[in-house]
Amino acid sequence: MRTIKKEKPACSECFLEYGLGTYRIPRKLPCGHSICFKCVKDKVKNYPEEVCPECGEYGVFKGNNFPKNLEIIAIISSNC
Ligand SMILES: [Zn+2]
Ligand SMILES: [Zn+2]
Repeated sequence: MRTIKKEKPACSECFLEYGLGTYRIPRKLPCGHSICFKCVKDKVKNYPEEVCPECGEYGVFKGNNFPKNLEIIAIISSNC
């Protein structure tokens, strides 16, 4: 018998689960998708030309406003 594992929200860039630590916090991109703060920082600094890993939108890492994704944070918090 297989145990059914509840799917936890994870970053679509590094595939690690989101968490409440600074670098694991999900951040919203301008297109509405989210990746973890560590990936956002890395992209903005090193790969600003890259596209959103979810929808392929161009230019999402050229801005500097990446608000926390409060919906996902609420899900993580309720799992703890
Ligand atoms: Zn990530
Ligand atoms: Zn997107």
